[in-house]
Amino acid sequence: MVRIRIFNRRTLWITSGIILEKLKKVAPLISETAPWKKIETWCVVKSSPWGISMDKERTMKSIPELIAKKRDGGELTDTEIRFSISSILDGSMQDCQIGALLMAIWQRGMTIKETKIFTQAMVASGETLQWPNAWQQVVVDKHSTGGVGDKVSLPLVPALVACGCKVPMISGRGLSYTGGTLDKLEAIPGFRTDLSGEQILHILNVVGGCITGQTTQLVPADRIMYAIRDVTSTIDSIPLITASILSKKLSERLSALVLDVKYGKAAFCKTLKIAQELTEMLVRTGADLGLKIVAVLSQMDHPIGLRIGNALEVMETVECLHGKGPEDLNELVVTLGGLLLHNVGKAGSAKEGSEIIQKSLKDGSALARFQAMLVAQGVELDVAHRLCQDKDFSGTLGQAPAHTDIRADAGGLVQDIDAMALAQLLLEMGAGRTATGGVIDHKVGVQILVPVGQPVNKGQPWIRVFHNHSQLTDEQMSAAHASVTIASSKVQTSKRITHIIRPEDLNLIEAEKHLTASMQ
Ligand code: URA
Repeated sequence: MVRIRIFNRRTLWITSGIILEKLKKVAPLISETAPWKKIETWCVVKSSPWGISMDKERTMKSIPELIAKKRDGGELTDTEIRFSISSILDGSMQDCQIGALLMAIWQRGMTIKETKIFTQAMVASGETLQWPNAWQQVVVDKHSTGGVGDKVSLPLVPALVACGCKVPMISGRGLSYTGGTLDKLEAIPGFRTDLSGEQILHILNVVGGCITGQTTQLVPADRIMYAIRDVTSTIDSIPLITASILSKKLSERLSALVLDVKYGKAAFCKTLKIAQELTEMLVRTGADLGLKIVAVLSQMDHPIGLRIGNALEVMETVECLHGKGPEDLNELVVTLGGLLLHNVGKAGSAKEGSEIIQKSLKDGSALARFQAMLVAQGVELDVAHRLCQDKDFSGTLGQAPAHTDIRADAGGLVQDIDAMALAQLLLEMGAGRTATGGVIDHKVGVQILVPVGQPVNKGQPWIRVFHNHSQLTDEQMSAAHASVTIASSKVQTSKRITHIIRPEDLNLIEAEKHLTASMQ
């Protein structure tokens, strides 16, 4: 094997004498005219600095040729995908080329095989967390595609810890609408979301779980691509979402993962069909990559729970951890937790797992883990105690200076509460951000006083809006009024979780698809 250096930029390992001879012949010419990537196509790279093994022959394609292959509907090979990710990472693929490749993927999609390799190459772009052998069966996490009022991770992490799991949850911030999980936790004074790998390990040792932001070392390829997807309208691609979500979870080296894929007016997946397609891709790819994975599909038209807004959602979390949370929040926590406990062998069935989680919410053990997690992540002992034990919400989280009650225009039954409309109202009031890094107002929010399905009289307050200015503007008042639908007839209320999808179910779905196709 010979090591050569081209243009002083890149070291290559050449294993083939014939290739080396060819290279020597053309080297003077190439060094003047050809792009160095072209030279690389004749060579074998021993291993990249990012741990991506390139032992196979390099692709014969240049970056523009790779983009064209995907643009024209071709299936990228293992080598082509790994080469693309390494080029994104080392800066040799320009931003405009990354954008073009992402758009080609957005238009043409990727097969399960491509998605799987893409995901693996993304994981290999950074570090992975390492755990003691004794934890091998119990490291778990959850991912949700996000919804209005979705604070499920906050009570779920300590509940899982109380049931014997280790949870290194790496979460995100919200962009638009209300805040993300990290934003909600940052409503608690002192809470830190920038833990290093060593700090995560330490907290998992002493407390059992944490919720923190993505470190710069984990999946750097995702960070580069996500920023470009954000500005090239390529976020909503099922294979790109799959690779983005799973690469981050795989870099946590989990034993089991549960996914909450939301669908409805206030979800990223507007229809059940799209949510099913995304779920199938996620579950199939995750299972192929060795994850014990299960997904729920949950309905997202009206807000989860009765409080939206960062501090208000922390308040509702504490109520849930006292066993007094709203029914739908409780349903999500115990179902997702139960599925995980079953998958790691801590329960004989998902139902039994749910009962174990429920018990941890009732007996205070999940609350105790939450309080310990807050302290481990920087919250003063006294503040954590007053928040969790005394429920001194305004003393610990603060309070918006003003609130306005919105009264029902007519009497009847609350048929619908438009989560998207309320989220947009809250975004305008500062509860979310419109650009990365924007400042969030943790105290503004909405409390639902009359939930869906309940009777309301004309003039009765049905929501309370917490705000910073002395009063809401006329536009804000009308937006709040318009977000409720009141009906005179009986309202059909459904459970949040409508489907549970395990890897073994996918074969049935596949068989059904073939049957339907053959009957047509
Ligand atoms: N969440 C992620 O982490 N990545 C995506 O691409 C979409 C949602």
